[in-house]
Amino acid sequence: MKIYIKTYGCQMNENDSLYMMGILEKEGHEIVGSIEVADVVIINTCAVRKKAEEKFYGKLGEALHLKKNKRDMLIGVGGCLAEKEREKLLEKGADFVFGTRSYPRISELVEKATSGEKFTYFEDHIDEIDSSTPRRLKGHHAWVTVIYGCDRFCSYCIVPYTRGREKSRPMEDVLNEVRNLALKGVREVTFLGQNVDAYGKDLGDGTSLAKLLRESLKIEGIDRLWFLTSYPSDVTDELIDVVASSDKISKNFHLPVQAGSNQILKRMRRRYTKEEYINLVNRIRNKVKDVSISTDIIVGFPGETERDFEETLDLLKTLKFERVNLALYSPREGTLAYKIYEDDVPREEKIRRFQRLLEVQKELNRELNERYRGKVVDVIVEARAKSGLMYGRDIRNKIIAFEGDESMMGKWAKVKVRKITAGPLYGKLVWLEGSKDDEDKTLWRSGAQAKSEEG
Ligand code: SF4
Repeated sequence: MKIYIKTYGCQMNENDSLYMMGILEKEGHEIVGSIEVADVVIINTCAVRKKAEEKFYGKLGEALHLKKNKRDMLIGVGGCLAEKEREKLLEKGADFVFGTRSYPRISELVEKATSGEKFTYFEDHIDEIDSSTPRRLKGHHAWVTVIYGCDRFCSYCIVPYTRGREKSRPMEDVLNEVRNLALKGVREVTFLGQNVDAYGKDLGDGTSLAKLLRESLKIEGIDRLWFLTSYPSDVTDELIDVVASSDKISKNFHLPVQAGSNQILKRMRRRYTKEEYINLVNRIRNKVKDVSISTDIIVGFPGETERDFEETLDLLKTLKFERVNLALYSPREGTLAYKIYEDDVPREEKIRRFQRLLEVQKELNRELNERYRGKVVDVIVEARAKSGLMYGRDIRNKIIAFEGDESMMGKWAKVKVRKITAGPLYGKLVWLEGSKDDEDKTLWRSGAQAKSEEG
């Protein structure tokens, strides 16, 4: 059958879809890039924000419209919204609805749906995903989910309810997957988890993210390792030391702070204070040379006063994050915040605060990016940007765009930074792996970053 998969939301969802594609292809199905030609449409949904939910309903509407002229077409809905809405999605036109831990059985679910039965399926089969599971690859980089679910229960977040409690994969199996990926030409791996720092805790055998990174360093062919997303109070000194110890591990910590006021952090049920967070950032910066720290902030959480907001603004100015993802608070049914707090910051006020943070962050970005001016930076070429330029990222997760073509993808390159903006950097390619001038292999093998050059 021809199957079209549309994915919304985070990297975890993206990765789940890549596994679904691999599983379906192995069973002889064809994954197609256009909804119009599909026999089966699978929508992998996100429930974290209202906007993602609205996008899903738009796509469902499109699929239902096509189904009017193609009655045999099947519509399957998975992901976080499927967990939240369940049977309601059958009423809205889906043929089958499945859970975030049920997708390893996607092939059987499609098979069952062809019989004409409408159904929901929420059994936990997540343990069936292992290093032998077929998966689609996208270039030289692969996500590897190492822990499912989250036990943190932040008051605004739906994830612990839609993705369940924490469950780690055995370390040897993760390592086998990374070895297999390396054999297939993957050079960069990102270990994924909603709270990736909790990796191994539930296994009770001493497994940890730090150990996983240390073992992964031994795998030949893998040039860079990343991990995402960290929960601040779960970051250990052991992890910081491992990151500091190797040029192959990204020098970027994504540490969502969410707010700069202790009153708001408490209402969010985040398990750290502003002071503890600052202390962690300082510990990381003291140990990991040239590290970049990025964060997430929610603006206009219930009860956020002007003073609370000013504290967040101060934190931004003090800590000078390399990147900040800003989001307006939106109440999510099923969460604690939805139940116990009134969404009392007016929308215009949320937008004003959002814009103010954005302005300040833009200035900071420009200032921080100045350090790159005139430097030659090592990147692995990733893809073509909408601008038509090729781009890659350095080990600090900084994006650099330059003239080039698709044949460069997956190769190491040296790019001399020519133009600084508040967003990406722009530069000129000065060396490409495998090219005629590829004489000094030791430089890129070392993974050394941002070497200064004259001029
Ligand atoms: S740590 Fe908090 S915000 Fe992150 S997934 Fe878990 S509950 Fe949600």
